[in-house]
Amino acid sequence: MSELTLTKVSKQFGGFRAVEDIDLTVAPDEVLCLLGPSGCGKTTTLRMIAGLESVSHGSVAFGGRDLSALPAQDRNVAMAFQFYALYPDLTVEENLVFPLAAEGLDARERQARLDHVASVLQLGGVLQRRPHELSEGEKQRVAVGRCIIRRPNAFLFDEPLSRLDVALREDMRGSIRRILATLNRPTVIVTHDQLEAMTMGDRIAVMRDGGIEQVGTPQDVFDYPDNTFVAGFIGTPQMTLLDGTCLGADDGGIVIGTDHARWTVPHAHFHRRPCKGDRLTFGFRPRAASLEAGALGLDGCRLVLSEHMGAEKLLHFDWHGQAVRVLTQSRAPEVDALRRVGVDLRALHVFDGDGRRLSV
Ligand code: ATP
Repeated sequence: MSELTLTKVSKQFGGFRAVEDIDLTVAPDEVLCLLGPSGCGKTTTLRMIAGLESVSHGSVAFGGRDLSALPAQDRNVAMAFQFYALYPDLTVEENLVFPLAAEGLDARERQARLDHVASVLQLGGVLQRRPHELSEGEKQRVAVGRCIIRRPNAFLFDEPLSRLDVALREDMRGSIRRILATLNRPTVIVTHDQLEAMTMGDRIAVMRDGGIEQVGTPQDVFDYPDNTFVAGFIGTPQMTLLDGTCLGADDGGIVIGTDHARWTVPHAHFHRRPCKGDRLTFGFRPRAASLEAGALGLDGCRLVLSEHMGAEKLLHFDWHGQAVRVLTQSRAPEVDALRRVGVDLRALHVFDGDGRRLSV
């Protein structure tokens, strides 16, 4: 099967650049999630792949064949929308086989496809019902079934789980993931839900303002964010990001800090070393910070708010005007109490003045 390739793809709506110079390759057996805040260009990108939106510049290709000029119906891609678009007067079975009408399959092959889809999506018991007799989760599965019953070049999903409640989402994430693994077609899923992207994507493309900030495995974008946007966007609770500077170097490594603290970080912690006077941003995840020891100490953190999050508490501190978050199982101090927050050096992310990653 063929890979899907986007080369320097842009979309201009009048004077507005909704998507700018996107390069992406999705392997035949790969699920790529486009993740980003509202309005960053995810849906526009998906619609350009489907052919529902023209490409202003660049190309969309399957297996090296440029399809940018082809209309949607000639691209052989399947797209499942946020809204189910099931035919209300047709049964589930009729809805499912509808997309096969134009394919000229014989009755046996049609039945085989239907049986397969009904079995992987567990729709066997509701095939004779109509959409109004289905639960939300069942409707969603029929919509997915209509999408996968054909054997298209690629699968495209726009916010596939957005209408489901939390428990159903969890179920569906797992089942869609399992189904996708059997299809062996490049798949693109648009979502603004990072949990969805983390659990369903082999890789994630994090988008902002029409561009791609980072593409990587879920683990990569979480552990090694390329820049401060990705660092702040991926992960809940959000990473703490502090403004600081490079204060020089000593025998132990690079000295970094603020007016209120200085820390020495070994050279090996940087893939690119900052110079004295450079503006920096320091980041650490709330789970990597604690009220106990830690090589990197922030003295004089004042507790502003403590939030219960099940087994843990999220503590919000003010450290000389900068927000510091700590996720802990320990007892929360009183509001206004002063504490030292400690961070393990290995958990420290360092970014330069333009927000680009400096640490390994
Ligand atoms: P959301 O998560 O809210 O769906 P998105 O990341 O999918 O957002 P898009 O729908 O791709 O974002 O929109 C990207 C930008 O392009 C937005 O600023 C949007 O207002 C603009 N846009 C989308 N479609 C059109 C259009 N047909 N004409 C003009 N502007 C558009």
